[in-house]
Amino acid sequence: NEPVRLNKYIAAAGVCSRREADSLIEQGKVEVNGEVIREMGHKVVVRDRVVVDGHEVKPEEYVYILLNKPKNTISTTNDERDRRTVLDVIEKATGKRVYPVGRLDRNTTGLMLLTNDGELAHRLMHPSYKIRKVYQVETNMILSDEQITALRNGVQLEDGPARAYKVDRHPVLANVIRMSIIEGRNHQVKRMISAVNAEVISLKRVVYAGLEIDDLRSGKWRSLSRKEIFQLR
Ligand code: URA
Repeated sequence: NEPVRLNKYIAAAGVCSRREADSLIEQGKVEVNGEVIREMGHKVVVRDRVVVDGHEVKPEEYVYILLNKPKNTISTTNDERDRRTVLDVIEKATGKRVYPVGRLDRNTTGLMLLTNDGELAHRLMHPSYKIRKVYQVETNMILSDEQITALRNGVQLEDGPARAYKVDRHPVLANVIRMSIIEGRNHQVKRMISAVNAEVISLKRVVYAGLEIDDLRSGKWRSLSRKEIFQLR
């Protein structure tokens, strides 16, 4: 029940990042107990009524879920075509509203983080934090050394160049590579593979921001350990 800074309190409620909260405060969009507060350092306690843009906000306890996303699920939270979403998969994981951090294509499997920690989610998704993602990529052919070198050196995509920071061949499967990328542009891995004249047959994310999927089975989830949460934040 310690007093906390208003921006932290708003971010903790999952509304936006701390910096965005500062900007809302500056714009006079934040009220505490019915009074507009513009002072950055203003502190609040849990019993204060904080209203942002007309909506009351309450910080929740944070939950962090690591899901092995199965195929044929979409990573948006509500789909107008009513397709199965990652939230349907983790249905009973938590009584709290959580959101996927970033996106995976419908048929991409593997590591997806879901949380109600808005501040962390914003940070992980922001390009300046350079989060590393590792994908296991099954291709329609055995890639040549030249194709692998091209992925490492960078290929030209329609929205600019893209490179893999690391590419390793799978120790056993000849048509599978592991590829690390930093950015997360739409369909980036598929487009990079197609830029070297090959095709993705299946795609699985095995590492995200230092988190590893390990032996979690498809469609299964687990909570992050305290240590993992600490390292992420
Ligand atoms: N790259 C892709 O092409 N698809 C994904 O789902 C993730 C990365």
